[in-house]
Amino acid sequence: MALTITRTQYPKTKPQDYSKGFGNILTDHMFLMDYTEAEGWHDPRILPFGALALTPATMCFHYGQEIFEGMKAYRTEDGRLLLFRPMDHMRRLNHSCERICIPQVCEEELLDYLKELLKTDLDWIQDSNVDSIYIRPMIIATEPVFGARPAKDYTCMAMLTPGRPHIPKGPKPVRIYVEKEQARAVRGGTGTAKCAGNYASTFAAQAKAKAQGYTQVLWLDGAERRYVEEMGQMNIFFVIKGELITPDLSGTILDGITRRSLLAIAKDLGYQTVERRISIQEIMTAHADGTLQEAFGCGTGACIAPVGELTYGECHMNIGNGSIGTVTFTLFERLTQIQRGLVPDPYGWTMEV
Ligand SMILES: *Cc1c(COP(=O)(O)O)cnc(C)c1O
Repeated sequence: MALTITRTQYPKTKPQDYSKGFGNILTDHMFLMDYTEAEGWHDPRILPFGALALTPATMCFHYGQEIFEGMKAYRTEDGRLLLFRPMDHMRRLNHSCERICIPQVCEEELLDYLKELLKTDLDWIQDSNVDSIYIRPMIIATEPVFGARPAKDYTCMAMLTPGRPHIPKGPKPVRIYVEKEQARAVRGGTGTAKCAGNYASTFAAQAKAKAQGYTQVLWLDGAERRYVEEMGQMNIFFVIKGELITPDLSGTILDGITRRSLLAIAKDLGYQTVERRISIQEIMTAHADGTLQEAFGCGTGACIAPVGELTYGECHMNIGNGSIGTVTFTLFERLTQIQRGLVPDPYGWTMEV
């Protein structure tokens, strides 16, 4: 399909400080493409960033038929722009579509359009204060009726926001609250899809944790609240007795591309890695006997978030000594170097725009 590009007449003034810009500062253009039963996906277009006109009856507002993705492109020292595992993100987008009953998109075509969007806003990523750009594609049901059934019309969109500033020394550890009552996902539910409803349902627990000074919530399984699943909107890893452990993809966990990448990197660096069920009891026991060495969350947005404290009821577990752990840092450094083209990419993960 032919992409049409309409450039803005009014480029925004670029900020000096991007530190709080993630998701807040948006670039000058956006991508849109429509779906109808008669025409399928059609009219791919890049437009000046701006508001949409939708009636209050629009289906996505009522029953949450929406999915999204989050991927990044990194600027290299020699000024190239590298997407990280973009086809994995396109495949996961279609997986989310399937679960939420949204028609599939052509993965190659959508990626081509996203590359064009990046090229249209290239001046943003060339700003010396910015070293990565986060790409947020999404699809919403746009049929203007509120029947509780899959919509007939959809709009796919994408926007760009400058990525979180890179911290070469690695991010600071965060405090995590283990949620005992509420659950994020159950088997057979939507935990493996990036759909809007999965996030709204976590905000109450997140707000409770924040009010007590924690950064995020650690989710346990929905059936028994015994097994560790995810940390906020990130996958979680533990280092116990030198072994890197992450919950297996049991049908409730989001199959994170950062998680997948870190598992591959860790294996190649010679670490023992294992994907299996791990209970909060096992974590407490390991902490008590001194074998819980490190813990961290991971995802595209922040890359890695070391866990400095984990609180489960009355049990406060301090992990590490207030700074990022050795294994965590080794993995963080290796992954970010590949993403930024600082070392050769033996995996074929990066794709030049
Ligand atoms: C997006 C997301 C992740 C991380 O996935 P990445 O592909 O690594 O960005 C983990 N958990 C949840 C719930 C997510 O939405």
